[in-house]
Amino acid sequence: MGRMRFLCDVDRCIDCGGCVVACKEGHQIPVGVNRRRVITINEGKPGEKSISVACMHCSDAPCIAVCPVDALYQREDGIVLVNKDVCIGCGYCFFACPFGAPQFPKGNSFGARGVMDKCTFCAGGPAENFSDKEKRLYGQNRIAEGKAPLCASMCATKALLAGDADKIANIYRERGFKRGSGANAWGWDKAYNKK
Ligand code: SF4
Ligand code: SF4
Repeated sequence: MGRMRFLCDVDRCIDCGGCVVACKEGHQIPVGVNRRRVITINEGKPGEKSISVACMHCSDAPCIAVCPVDALYQREDGIVLVNKDVCIGCGYCFFACPFGAPQFPKGNSFGARGVMDKCTFCAGGPAENFSDKEKRLYGQNRIAEGKAPLCASMCATKALLAGDADKIANIYRERGFKRGSGANAWGWDKAYNKK
């Protein structure tokens, strides 16, 4: 089975926010929670770059290692998911994650932390595929439908790539070759090159 990965081509990202909106609308993400963000560095200056960031579904995910109740797990295709029936909202995964991916909506009117939410790679969650529970807790399951993640599908400039690691690495390599630059994919060393 191929390994699923994200790759954001920073030479193509135009900071339009289409990926963020697609994710929020497509999965009915509550106000205050963002599974994906666009970060801009050197804004308005020479060398300005924007990067679309979400959970990278790391090879050796630190969030899984620190979770005290084993709420996080990794599928065979590399997608990292959270079981919201098990998560206790302790926040350890937030501190372990190098990409700031875990989000914690407020749990009640006293502001207690709710269970963690993060990018699912549009693969739903541990509930039965296409069930009401899966949709309510985790959003759409596009991977089970054989579709690509929403954010990458909606990216107008095809800056955001998502899918089989070898395929997207080849696309990026070919682009870099044509541009004569861009050999290093942002975040890949941190997310995927752990021993
Ligand atoms: S990006 Fe963060 S939340 Fe996602 S797998 Fe890596 S450590 Fe876990
Ligand atoms: S893969 Fe799906 S859940 Fe993850 S950021 Fe993209 S649209 Fe959101």
